[in-house]
Amino acid sequence: MKQYDVAIVGYGPAGATLAHLLGQCGLDVIVLERETAAYHLPRAVHFDAEVMRVFQWVGIADAMEPLTARHPGMRFVDRDGNLLLDWPRPPGIGPQGWRANYRFHQPDLEKLLRERLAEMKTVTVRTRADVFFVEDQGDRVELRFEDMSRGKVERIAAKYVVGCDGARSIVRRYIETGMEDYGFHERWLVIDVVLNKDKPELGDHSIQYCVPERPATYVRGPGLRRRWEITVRPDEDSAAIAKPERVWELLSPWLKPEEAVLERTAVYVFHSLVADHWRKGRLLLAGDACHQTPPFMGQGMCAGTRDVANLYWKLALVCQDKVRGADAERLLDTYESERKPNAREYITTAVRLGGLINTCGTEAALRAALPTASGSARMESIAPPIGPGLGVGEKAGRLFGQPRLADGRLMDDLLKHRFVVVAEQALAEGLSLPSGVGLVTTVTSPDAAEHLARLDTRAVVLRPDRHTLGCADTPEALAALVAHIPLNPVESQEPEMI
Ligand SMILES: Cc1cc2nc3c(=O)[nH]c(=O)nc-3n(C[C@H](O)[C@H](O)[C@H](O)COP(=O)(O)OP(=O)(O)OC[C@H]3O[C@@H](n4cnc5c(N)ncnc54)[C@H](O)[C@@H]3O)c2cc1C
Repeated sequence: MKQYDVAIVGYGPAGATLAHLLGQCGLDVIVLERETAAYHLPRAVHFDAEVMRVFQWVGIADAMEPLTARHPGMRFVDRDGNLLLDWPRPPGIGPQGWRANYRFHQPDLEKLLRERLAEMKTVTVRTRADVFFVEDQGDRVELRFEDMSRGKVERIAAKYVVGCDGARSIVRRYIETGMEDYGFHERWLVIDVVLNKDKPELGDHSIQYCVPERPATYVRGPGLRRRWEITVRPDEDSAAIAKPERVWELLSPWLKPEEAVLERTAVYVFHSLVADHWRKGRLLLAGDACHQTPPFMGQGMCAGTRDVANLYWKLALVCQDKVRGADAERLLDTYESERKPNAREYITTAVRLGGLINTCGTEAALRAALPTASGSARMESIAPPIGPGLGVGEKAGRLFGQPRLADGRLMDDLLKHRFVVVAEQALAEGLSLPSGVGLVTTVTSPDAAEHLARLDTRAVVLRPDRHTLGCADTPEALAALVAHIPLNPVESQEPEMI
């Protein structure tokens, strides 16, 4: 039986991104996907700078960017169009080295992820492969799947299996976990249209129509794509409301049938769930398989991308035997302890947002329940730290920015998949670093000073996922922090002095 380092079940955005990252670290990876092609209809329409930075590591960010649209922000309005709350997004390049938010068409992203993965020799992709049996045998996992093109059952083994197999995950069933439920289960009609020609009066902002009897969301997509998400009332039939005649009636405040083509209409039931357990032995979960959110924050796929960014380098270190035994168990356990609180924070905020769009329609209620700057009618983006795990000290687990080097290049383009020390020059002098650990100083990157100042620190050690392992203000504290660095998931002979 052929044995791989990691078998990934599911080739959606989470599975494809994880396959890229593990493959880049040199692991022998197989992806098993039931369907022949990527899901062709749009689902996610928004991702953020943290996610674009992961796409930078994958190598698709430059190709993806021209396919995106600008995202000036979201506005909450009442039935008369009066602004209740503004959630503006900063324009221009932000601390991650990318714009804060992007509008996109999910099939464009999945196409790019798949095309680029085909070039990677370390990753095997099997489509029409329906996984139906997963057994953790202690020292490896056996999987059985049906090759649906031939009706033949095949067996493979892997050191670890990651279920990126979506909301109805089979791997989750083998983990036998329950789900935390945050109480949001609603039917929404999702309507995607392609305009025949631009209609500027629709605007670039996302709009939340806080109209209690028919809450609705408008989202501008790239090019001529536009989306409306409209609540389905309890007494309405899902099939009847998705019929074109009814859809055009519902769209009539904004659009006439001669102005656009309906790309798809579908009723989704949005849930708010987080799996109790994300790992059992050699089985792990990522993406929708371990959490599902209402779409109001545009964070479902983003959370899955954060999962795999947190997991890939830990799995790489363990599969490469660089971390072993009890240390390996502890390292893999930090995946759930770090990721779950962060995913939960986005989901509970989305649930609050959904509840408010549904019920209130008053400025005071919105301001009381959402993360606004005190006294203002402006909502702020949240950036929750990851939970406790590998970090050292109180400033551990924060997402750090991406310094630009003096020659204009972005840090991650040079130091991908490595631990990196970013430090004031005075603290970096005489610092001894383990093999392959990168070093960026305020001399080699004047920009680094601003990133350090944002955390009010003089030095940081960054993990490959660019969260802080910890911060230090003295040479002694920095040397002590550096001693916590495990080996790098990619090989390198010398410290990289950048
Ligand atoms: C209307 C809507 C709007 C959304 N908007 C946003 C947004 O703006 N921003 C955002 O970040 N997210 C958004 N999302 C969420 C986002 O689309 C999902 O979170 C994301 O697609 C999940 O990716 P995934 O890889 O975890 O799972 P999926 O994309 O569901 O992929 C799972 C894959 O596993 C395969 N599979 C399942 N079982 C098996 C098996 N037994 N064997 C083999 N293969 C199997 C499936 O065929 C599928 O291809 C939205 C979702 C919806 C529905």
